[in-house]
Amino acid sequence: MDDKLFLMIPGPTPIPERALLAMAKAPVGHRSSEFARIMAEVSDNLRWLHQTRSDVLILASSGTGALEAAIVNACSPGDRVLVGANGKFGERWVEVARAFGLKPEVISAPYGQPLPTDAFQAALAADTDKAIKAVIVTHSETSTGVLNDLGTIAGYIRAHGEAVSIVDAVTSLGAANVPVDEWGLDFVGSGSQKAYMIPPGLAFLAVSERGWQAVERSRSPRYYFDLRGYRKALKKNNTPFTTPVNLVYALQVTLQMLKAEGLEGLFARHTRLRDGTRAAIRALGLGLFAPDDTFASTAITAVIPPPDIPCDKLRATLKKNYDIVIAGGQGEMEGQIVRLGHLGFVSERDVLTAIAALEGALHTLGYDGFTPGSGVAAASAVLFG
Ligand SMILES: *Cc1c(COP(=O)(O)O)cnc(C)c1O
Repeated sequence: MDDKLFLMIPGPTPIPERALLAMAKAPVGHRSSEFARIMAEVSDNLRWLHQTRSDVLILASSGTGALEAAIVNACSPGDRVLVGANGKFGERWVEVARAFGLKPEVISAPYGQPLPTDAFQAALAADTDKAIKAVIVTHSETSTGVLNDLGTIAGYIRAHGEAVSIVDAVTSLGAANVPVDEWGLDFVGSGSQKAYMIPPGLAFLAVSERGWQAVERSRSPRYYFDLRGYRKALKKNNTPFTTPVNLVYALQVTLQMLKAEGLEGLFARHTRLRDGTRAAIRALGLGLFAPDDTFASTAITAVIPPPDIPCDKLRATLKKNYDIVIAGGQGEMEGQIVRLGHLGFVSERDVLTAIAALEGALHTLGYDGFTPGSGVAAASAVLFG
């Protein structure tokens, strides 16, 4: 049906109508006083969402830009950095680090498993001459559905004393607790098309005081992503280059919505949607790619379909018959898993609809390993207690 497509992918995520309408306005000048007032409100609310008193910079890029900016600004060519990699995004930060001449040391875990926190502890404790300059960690690893234990790793980074933390919080910020100041995180990057409930195009980067000291020390070449310009402009409620004004209109509205829900409410809703989804997947006899509930992302659930049901057929059936779009696997995970997003402007109704549609699609494709309705019943039991 036209105009009925529902995105249950880990970004772009669904957008509330009032945010879409806010974007339909003609833009004002990005250096005008009207716009500065909007930016001031947005900045305050971004600090609230990040649980920080530090700067939250707004960049015109996708989420990868925020992480690249952090890596370039925090480090210099030749620096040793630790990078956690248990999925495609962790691996991306290894590539970015190499691209800028850093020496990444990878701490990995098999896909679907959380990063081993003790390996971070051991590597940092062994570095007595403080050669490690940064530790890069992906909090919610969207490619596998794992939520890494960032709080514990952050403690080891603080104990090291020299290395700064660079966190990919792209699918955790706004969906899981990321207390930036409490955990002493230095660079925390995220993107607009995820829990922010607006279209792609903005990235956010929270930078701590310690982070700014690293920015000053860095010898990496940088221009568009020189964070010092963003900090200077932010003091005047501005950005160094043209701000995507209409995206900020939308952001103003969605931050108000998020604030009305409250941090506790936001995290509880995402946790409920995750738990409901996982209960349904188990009831249907399908596999959870991240099997451990303790380390399951609140943004995305990666599902292993029955052996004789190809991932692309399952996704195509969901789209064709139910107008629901779910994601496939990334890279070598293509054809192995499908991924159900429950991030951002997503409610209990949406998850129930998706699970019912999944039952229908599985049935259409000939899978009979479940009692019809059992997935919906399992999800309801969780979602509505
Ligand atoms: C979406 C996402 C990103 C950013 O990807 P972009 O395409 O650059 O917005 C980074 N990390 C994770 C974990 C993500 O889910």
